Amino acid sequence: MSNELRIPVSIPLDDEGMLGRECLECKRYFKLKPGTGLSIDHCHCPYCDYEGNSDSFWTPAQIEYAQSIAMNQAINQLIKPSIDKLTKTFKDLERETRNRFIQFKFKESRNNFSVPIKYYTEEELETKITCNNCGLVFSIYGVFARCPDCNQLNAFLIYYKSIEVTRKQLKMFSEAEMSDDIQGKSLSFLLSSCISVFDGLGKELRMRKPTALPERPKNLFQNLFKLNETLNNAISWKHSNYPFLLKMFQVRHLFEHNMGVIDDNFVNKIPGFDSMFGRKYSLSFNEIELFIDSMDELGKIVQDQFSTL
Ligand SMILES: [Zn+2]
Ligand SMILES: [Zn+2]
Repeated sequence: MSNELRIPVSIPLDDEGMLGRECLECKRYFKLKPGTGLSIDHCHCPYCDYEGNSDSFWTPAQIEYAQSIAMNQAINQLIKPSIDKLTKTFKDLERETRNRFIQFKFKESRNNFSVPIKYYTEEELETKITCNNCGLVFSIYGVFARCPDCNQLNAFLIYYKSIEVTRKQLKMFSEAEMSDDIQGKSLSFLLSSCISVFDGLGKELRMRKPTALPERPKNLFQNLFKLNETLNNAISWKHSNYPFLLKMFQVRHLFEHNMGVIDDNFVNKIPGFDSMFGRKYSLSFNEIELFIDSMDELGKIVQDQFSTL
């Protein structure tokens, strides 16, 4: 006879149907939605390279919870019946010795045989993602990660989503009543946002493939000219409006470092602005709209190119 007692314990999901997971290797926490994604029994850590059976991703809180449930079940199935049997034996003995010279008295003071259930709540995370490759719904700390099911990097997905947000912001700004200076600031903010998102994408890609992208210049993804060189001129070759992109990256530089006033550097790099030297660059809604579309297209070119690096 086997001494093994098997007790199935189901681990509860949170309010959104998500299950908490913790990586054995880096100890970082994430969540995923069972029933979405691939039907596989292994899992990749979204943050590091660890990959293992899904059973190796339980969080310490889930293990404590499962142990407390299992202990109670074991008490109910194994210990309680033995005690009940013992109690009955004593009671029988008491009954049998009732009128005897030596009487057996039995007083039951049974303790409550149970252990407290270790309840827990899953953590709130920062970014919830649906993988566009396998459909897994998962959430992570930070912004960039790999899909725990199909291992696809979500950096591009996040990039397109962020570009989409700036498109919505532009729509909001275009419908709002605002003075010229506020409008100018709002548009330069959107220009900067798009380039920051692209820069964030670049930092993530460089971290994932440090040998493919050079360490210098430091902000490679803010320097479109250099990035184009690094990617074997793929951007100037494939993008439908490369000169416009180059101009807008320089315009952003003006707003970041020279309050939007056209300087020598700008005039030298972008043709046709000599007569505008010393004047403030005036951004328009149409220009930002076109820029957002161009950044979307730029993302796709980098994505194609990155997969070959
Ligand atoms: Zn990990
Ligand atoms: Zn996936």
